Amino acid sequence: MKTIGLLGGMSWESTVNYYRAINEGIKAELGGLHSAEIALYSIDFAPLEKLQHLNDWNGTAKILVDAALKIQAAKADFLLICTNTMHKVAPAIEEVLDIPILHIADATAEVLIADNITRVGLLGTAFTMEQDFYKGRLSEKYSLDVITPSDGDRAIIHRVIYEELCLGKIETKSKQEYLRIIQQLADQGVEAVILGCTEIGMLVKQTDTPIRLIDTTVIHAQKAVEKAIGKK
Ligand code: GLU
Repeated sequence: MKTIGLLGGMSWESTVNYYRAINEGIKAELGGLHSAEIALYSIDFAPLEKLQHLNDWNGTAKILVDAALKIQAAKADFLLICTNTMHKVAPAIEEVLDIPILHIADATAEVLIADNITRVGLLGTAFTMEQDFYKGRLSEKYSLDVITPSDGDRAIIHRVIYEELCLGKIETKSKQEYLRIIQQLADQGVEAVILGCTEIGMLVKQTDTPIRLIDTTVIHAQKAVEKAIGKK
């Protein structure tokens, strides 16, 4: 079994879910007392979040490159960056690493394509919903038609992620807002909605809506399990 590198802490609320999902995945595949080989490095999110909102992406890259090198030194075979947003600096991390990164947008796109989904909604931080490193990657590399909410709704989604979900707060009002926004995306003809932030699955579940939800945490963890045991 390969060792899975996890770069976590963004936020730790979602890293816990990665840890659980990966171990459950290995148990489901291998049975018995099997569990995942994981090298996890979890950063302090507060300074990183400050740099994000100052638009200092070089500063964020320095923190993540340093953490990724520690994970490589711990003999991980490949790396997961446990956040959609910070894939913005994945190229800078890739440049210094000898081990590959399992990119969250690629993992997600593979599932969409396998299910013949071509028009999809995207929820995430403003960075993820608005910038090319994510939305652009889905549309350019995979020819997906990616629809994001209106300006006002994107602001709501973003605020709830940083002021509630990353702090472990689950608010009914916010859940209703998210479900309203998901319904609006469905009204625009999307076949599924990507939960493109690793905390959103804590707030909105598939049982809350008939609209297909694509949870990036679940998919990323599942792809890691498959790669770790050499299943493709
Ligand atoms: N975990 C979130 C994501 O998947 C947001 C936190 C962050 O800024 O990394 O984008």
